[in-house]
Amino acid sequence: MVKDRKKRLLYSEEIIDRRVKELADTLSHDYKGKDVVIVCVLKGAFIFLADLTRYLGISYVVDFVRLRSYGSQSESSGIVTVTKDIEVSVEGRDVIILEDIVDTGTTLVYLRDMLEKRNPASLKICTLIDKKERRLVEIDADYVGFDLDEGFVVGYGLDFDERFRCLPSVYLIEE
Ligand code: 5GP
Repeated sequence: MVKDRKKRLLYSEEIIDRRVKELADTLSHDYKGKDVVIVCVLKGAFIFLADLTRYLGISYVVDFVRLRSYGSQSESSGIVTVTKDIEVSVEGRDVIILEDIVDTGTTLVYLRDMLEKRNPASLKICTLIDKKERRLVEIDADYVGFDLDEGFVVGYGLDFDERFRCLPSVYLIEE
């Protein structure tokens, strides 16, 4: 079982902080003067959102979406449903989806298609971690904190069965 396995430090608090600040600087540059809506994907991205937004030098509004992907923690079935939709209108606005990790890409494709139907002026994806190895559908994040080849990670918002979310660093669960 994953919860009984050892964890190995992957990204320390300091490294995450530096990278999040770099991402915030890039976003502040790219979105200067725009009508920005940041859509945070619950629950995993909430710590990333809290840190990133405090470094942003632009104005923006934040909203939250929660999706459910059927299957186990480590396997995505491809069936996605929305369990909590955003409440603001994104029509004509510049939307940034904030994700914790893109794995198979199934969840994000569903969310992107759903938001695109609402006619935003632009829609981009910012993810803390991009795990391209297991990608099943074609989707690329526009802003990426870290690229990860493989493995299951926890901490900094990412959980296993609701555990480890509030660890300040990211850990790899060892095989
Ligand atoms: P996808 O639809 O891209 O396969 O799934 C993305 C979601 O699966 C992420 O938002 C995250 O909640 C979960 N996920 C994928 N890989 C990991 C991982 O390594 N660790 C954790 N904790 N969650 C993951």
